[in-house]
Amino acid sequence: MRKLCRCGHRMSLGFRLVIYKNGIQVDRVPIMECDDCERYEVLSAVKSDLLDLLFQLEEQGETGLILFPEVNELADVLYGLFTDPMLEADLNEAMLVTSCEERINLLLDLYGCAQKSNDKNWMNEITVRLATLSNFVSKRQFSGAK
Ligand SMILES: [Zn+2]
Repeated sequence: MRKLCRCGHRMSLGFRLVIYKNGIQVDRVPIMECDDCERYEVLSAVKSDLLDLLFQLEEQGETGLILFPEVNELADVLYGLFTDPMLEADLNEAMLVTSCEERINLLLDLYGCAQKSNDKNWMNEITVRLATLSNFVSKRQFSGAK
């Protein structure tokens, strides 16, 4: 997960509490933060999902704390990797893509179960979770996984 800050220093992956208007708080949002100047930005791969979520919460008049990995599959995979004590190397994008592919396979198995039991709600829920991941993975494949 490499990216350079405007100041020229390296940015690294972290997670942060984002406080939005009307008391909406979303915790464990993946961000890239500068090692030097304290600038940070929401990870571009989840940015539009986060904005959608904030908009939705505002519409529903929701307040309080949401854990982003609980509502976003990509953030969940990322957070799992980030907090994995067995992880020895620096987290990189290729590892993330591999983990996403594993999660996709798992979800496809689950989808099969949901289909067998003809559970439409469950199937829809899995479809949403799959979409976030396959979006991310297919974009990476086109751009040649940097
Ligand atoms: Zn900087």
